[in-house]
Amino acid sequence: MAIKFQLKDYKAETHPDWCPGCGDFGILNAIQSSLFELELDPNNVAIFSGIGCSGKSNHYPNPHTHHYLETYGIHTLHGRVLPFATGAKLANPHLAVIAVGGDGDGLGIGAGHFVAAGRRNLDLLYVFYDNEVYGLTKGQAAPTLALGDRPKSLPRPNVQSKLNPMLEAFAAGFTFIARSYAYNIKELKFLIQEGYNHPGLAFIDVLQPCPTYNNLHTKEWFGPRVYPVSQDGYDPVVPADLSEEDLSRKVGEFVSKATEWGEKIPTGIFWRHLSPTFEERVAAYTPGYPEIAPATRELIPGGRAAELMEEFAL
Ligand code: SF4
Repeated sequence: MAIKFQLKDYKAETHPDWCPGCGDFGILNAIQSSLFELELDPNNVAIFSGIGCSGKSNHYPNPHTHHYLETYGIHTLHGRVLPFATGAKLANPHLAVIAVGGDGDGLGIGAGHFVAAGRRNLDLLYVFYDNEVYGLTKGQAAPTLALGDRPKSLPRPNVQSKLNPMLEAFAAGFTFIARSYAYNIKELKFLIQEGYNHPGLAFIDVLQPCPTYNNLHTKEWFGPRVYPVSQDGYDPVVPADLSEEDLSRKVGEFVSKATEWGEKIPTGIFWRHLSPTFEERVAAYTPGYPEIAPATRELIPGGRAAELMEEFAL
C-alpha cells in the first residue's frame, strides 16, 4: 500500500534564516506544498540548488547547516545547478528532479549551462529566484537588473543592460516557460505543478522581492502591477501543426507579453509546446534506456564507470 505523506514530511526541522519579508519564504512554501499535493514520495525527490540565498531551498544533511526541504538533493557549485540536475535525471529518469537557483547563479556564471539545458529539453523543472541582485554577497547587480537602476546596495546606477529570463529560456529551447510572483503562492503552486507535469524542460521565472538590498522592486511595487496573463485571453499552448505564419504570430505574442514591464507585469504560463525530450533522444541511441539507466545497475566493488561511459556515450 502506498504511503500517504503529510505536508510536514517535506519540511526540514530547521527554521529558515532568510531576512524577514524575503520572497524566498513564499517560494519555499509553494515548493513544499506542491510536492505534497503532487503526492511525491520525498524519498524519490531530488532538489538541486545553486549558490545564493536561494541555495538553502533543498536538503543538506549536515547537523550544523541544515537546509529547509526534507528530500534528497545537493547544494551545488555556483552556476552548476543544471548540470547536476541533468546528471541525476539521466542516471535515474524515475527520480523527481527540481533545480532551484537565483538570477545571478543561472544567468551570470551559469548562463552557458542555462543555454545547454534548453537545447537538451530534459524532463525536469527549474525554479528561478529573480530578485535582480546578488543578495548573499550584499546586493551587487545581477543580470536581471535593468540598465540605470540603482537599488540601495549599489554606489551608482547599474551600467549593464538586463537580460529577460523568459526570452533567454525561449531562445535556448525550454518547452514550458512561465513567470510568477513569490507572494502569489496559489499561482506559484499551480505553475510548479504544471511545470513538473510538463514532459520536457520547464522554467519558472519567480519575481522575488529582496527587501534587504532591492528597495526598487518591493512587495509594494509589484503588488498592484502583477496580473494573470490569461486575463487578456492569452493562450500559451503551441500546437505542433501550426503554419509558419501562425507560429510567427504566436512568437510575436509571446515576446510582447514576456517584455511587458512597468505599470503592468503579466504572470502565468507564457509558452508551452511538446518536443522530444533528451531522455527520448538518449533512448534512440541506447536500446533499453531508461530501464537500463545507471541508477538501476548493480553496484560493483571497484566501480564500472568506464563500462557505463562507453555504453552511454552519445
Ligand atoms: Fe532574501 Fe535578500 Fe535577505 Fe537574501 S538578502 S535572504 S534574497 S531578503
